[in-house]
Order: sequence, then C-alpha cells, then structure tokens
Amino acid sequence: MIDPFGRRISYLRVSVTDRCDFRCTYCMAEDMTFLPKRDLLSLEELDRLTTVFVEKGVRKLRLTGGEPLVRKNIMHLVRQISRHLKSGALDELTITTNGSQLAKHAAELADCGVKRINVSIDTLDPAKFRAITRWGNVEQVMAGLDAAQAAGLKIKLNAVALKNFNDQEIPDLMRWAHGRGMDLTVIETMPMGEIDADRTDQYLPLSQLRSDLEQRFTLNDIPYKTGGPARYVEVAETGGRLGFITPMTHNFCESCNRVRLTCTGTLYMCLGQEDAADLRTPMRASEGNELLAQAIDEAITRKPKGHDFIIDRTTRRPAVSRHMSVTGG
Ligand code: SAM
Ligand code: SF4
Repeated sequence: MIDPFGRRISYLRVSVTDRCDFRCTYCMAEDMTFLPKRDLLSLEELDRLTTVFVEKGVRKLRLTGGEPLVRKNIMHLVRQISRHLKSGALDELTITTNGSQLAKHAAELADCGVKRINVSIDTLDPAKFRAITRWGNVEQVMAGLDAAQAAGLKIKLNAVALKNFNDQEIPDLMRWAHGRGMDLTVIETMPMGEIDADRTDQYLPLSQLRSDLEQRFTLNDIPYKTGGPARYVEVAETGGRLGFITPMTHNFCESCNRVRLTCTGTLYMCLGQEDAADLRTPMRASEGNELLAQAIDEAITRKPKGHDFIIDRTTRRPAVSRHMSVTGG
C-alpha cells in the first residue's frame, strides 16, 4: 500500500473499543456517550479486517482504544492475531494501554508474542493521578507495570505534557522510568474532540519542555526509531531514552506510515483529518475479501498530506470533532 505522497503504509492501529475505565481530562468529557454495543465489529470481524491489512503489507499492528484491555475477550483477538507473528507475516504486535487491567493480562500478552507495550501515565502522584484520570488509581497501574516487567515485556511510558500540571514533574518521572529500564515519551496535547477543559490552558509546547530539561540534563539526539512518530534523545545522566511526540510544534506527517481502524470498521487515513472510509459495509457484503481489499486500496489513495492541528485562543473548536479514544493514540 503506497499513498499518493509515496509513503508506504505498513503500520495499522486498531481501536478495539471506544470505552474506557478512565476519563482523562485531556481525552474525554466526564459524561461521554459511547457507541451502542450493537455497532461494534465482533472480534472475528476485527480479526478478518486486520488479516486483510496484513496480507496487504502491514508489518506492525497496535491495539489501542479507548482502553483495549476493557474490551470483553480481548485476549482472544490478541491470540488470533498472534498467528501472523508466528507465520512471519507480521513483525510486531503491540498495545497501548492505561495499565489498569495489565496485571491480569501481562503474562498472556507475552505468551502471545507481544514484546513491547506502551503504558500511559502522566504523573506518579496518587492524588494528581486521580485528578487527571478522574477515575483511575495509580497503584493499580503500578501493579500492572510490575506484572508486565515480570513477564519480560519492554515498556515505554507515555505522558501527555500538560502546562501547570506535570511539567515540573517530568524530570522525576523520567528518572523513575529510566531507573526501572523503561523508555519515556512525552506527547503534546492535540485538539481532538470536545472536552470539559480549555485546551489552551493545558497545551505545553515540547520545544519549551526540552529547553527546560536541557538546563539540567544532557540530551543527545539519537536515530532510534520504533516505527512511530517519536524523535528520541539519550539522556546522559540516566542512560535512558526520552522520546518527543510533537504534532503541534514539529509536524512529522512527511514520514507517516500509519492508518487507523475504529471498532466500527471505519478507516481513518489521518489522525488529524475527518475523511474516512467505511470498511464494514464492503466486509459484510460478501464472504470473500475482494470488495474489502478494493475499499482499502481506494482509501489509501485519499490519505492526506498531513494534519492541521492548531491550539490558540482564537481557535475555539477542536481540529477534529471525534475524541482520541475513537481512533486511538
Ligand atoms: N487508553 C489507552 C491509553 O491511555 O494508553 C489507549 C488509548 S489513549 C487515547 C492513547 C494515548 O493517547 C494515551 O497515551 C493518551 O495519553 C493519549 N491522548 C489522549 N488524548 C490526547 C490528546 N487530546 N492529545 C494528545 N494525546 C492524547
Ligand atoms: Fe482512557 Fe486512554 Fe483516553 Fe485516558 S487517554 S481516557 S485511559 S482512552
């Protein structure tokens, strides 16, 4: 799959549910309306769809959400997809999770051939963690991280950098992560979906965070890549890796290799644009996969050049109306 800008599409992210057991303030409103369960693709349909993508050249697959580990029987899907790892058709199967259910599933994830996972954690402080997630418990996430490391999974922590919330804590979070052998990636908040808070109050440009960190640490740019949009540095003082995901201050669209599938079978060719393709209808229209493959090919021809995210006081509306939990991070 090659898009009109010559980019090879080799990475599929699948949001297996839009539901979540947290309500992070930058991600969701407190009283979110979720999709009716009847609109969801079954796990068998998700497997069928992802398999067609693998046949069309996807080498890396990430399950995300919402919270992927709250989807009922999710490990059944992980087990099914893992056959593509065994056959060599897929290089990597991974997951982005808030960690709340990780203690239960870490060992089985490892057994299915998952090697690395991303766990989102914005603060180590229990009260602040509760405040930012509204419903989360940091102890539960810690138990999940312990279980994941015990199972041999490599962990990358993701933290959304939020002005006046965790900007001062990032050095401690980084030292803690690196001390435990985990990478840390910081992310700029993106204007996706209506939330209760004002994003202008939350937005922290990472260029600013980086120069603050450079007052205290030696950050050496390194060419390390995981197939995603992060740019990495090695921190001389800790020996660990720190990643920056900067959709706002440094646009990384020119090297985008990704498309995103929702739990209703809608394909988004860009996280930051509204255009999408319905894959559920062609999938359900016939038992074979020809219509589906055609619909995917047609969608790839519409992959846009990039996103147009803006956060400022004059732009009141989010760049896209759907929440991050629909297309996954
Ligand atoms: N629930 C899982 C989790 O939190 O890791 C997976 C889905 S979550 C939508 C994926 C990632 O997107 C998380 O790291 C989260 O912090 C991030 N995220 C959510 N809303 C965001 C926003 N508006 N801007 C930037 N990152 C966001
Ligand atoms: Fe849930 Fe992840 Fe969104 Fe937080 S960021 S509300 S954990 S989907």
